[in-house]
Amino acid sequence: MANILITGATGQLGQKVVKSLLSRTEASNIAAMVRNPEKEEAVDIAGRGVELRKADYGDYESLVKAFQGISKLYFVSGSDIPHRLPQHENVVKAAVEAGVGHVVYTSFERINETETSPIAMVAEAHIKTEAWLKSSGITYTILKQNLYLDMLPMYLGEKVMETGVIYLPAGNGKTGFVSRKDMANLAAEILTSKGHENKSYDVTAEKAYSFAEVAEELSGITGKSIQYVSPSLEEYNNTLTKAGVPAQFIALFAGFAQGIAQGEFEQTSDIIFRVTGKHPVSVPEFLRQVYKG
Ligand code: NAP
Repeated sequence: MANILITGATGQLGQKVVKSLLSRTEASNIAAMVRNPEKEEAVDIAGRGVELRKADYGDYESLVKAFQGISKLYFVSGSDIPHRLPQHENVVKAAVEAGVGHVVYTSFERINETETSPIAMVAEAHIKTEAWLKSSGITYTILKQNLYLDMLPMYLGEKVMETGVIYLPAGNGKTGFVSRKDMANLAAEILTSKGHENKSYDVTAEKAYSFAEVAEELSGITGKSIQYVSPSLEEYNNTLTKAGVPAQFIALFAGFAQGIAQGEFEQTSDIIFRVTGKHPVSVPEFLRQVYKG
């Protein structure tokens, strides 16, 4: 019977955790929590011999049922930001009721935990979930994950190679971007080994980069001159609004850019190397993979 349960298993991070776990333990030890077992990603997971358990963060009873017999729960933070606070509370309470032994939670890198943070809307659920886990009595491992390296092209802009400009109000702030794959390998190792009980890890890169440095790297890799322009927030809002970008999207990107500018994501760490024995993919390596040729 499965003793490790992966939530968010149909998502981009969760799928990678399942795959990484399969190289470390038998499929019969793993269960995947999914909302829709017919979803392509769920069918693929089931095809690898992993048991599917249907549940939703919004449905408490379904969670208690899905968590039965589970000793280690990999809890992927919800993606429905306006509604995830009660969802996360459900997950922690259900884990307690079902007798889960250890919860590994995908939290969020940050420095400023007050409402003055430009990313307070994202950070709130993580900060509260960490507190609920710590007071629940369940063994926890908190993975304070930095921004996904996989999403760097979104920050640079889809047309960066055509325009030659990275346009983002992130100032001189640096970010320790980490790929989902490296985060997944770290999680899989933690889920199958000891020594990570009641620990919080900064899941971040060995070196953080500013967007000026990213522009320099990208110029060197592609041979094309790429400039970094950090506009004022007002100018950024006006430019993107005129370009037809929806207000909600502008606010989210502006918030993250401001967070970067204020140093929220500048932490570095060697945790991935220490736990997995492999260095995480760096920003220059990633840029070469995506933009060279
Ligand atoms: P993703 O591809 O959107 O996957 C989210 C997963 O959560 C999916 O499996 C989804 O299930 C599941 N889920 C969402 N709401 C749920 C609910 N109510 N009940 C049960 N499952 C639910 O996101 P990702 O790329 O894997 O990232 C994982 C998480 O990291 C996100 O959810 C978000 O909290 C956070 N995040 C971090 C960054 C970063 O840069 N560090 C960026 C974006 C997001 P379905 O397949 O059924 O939809």
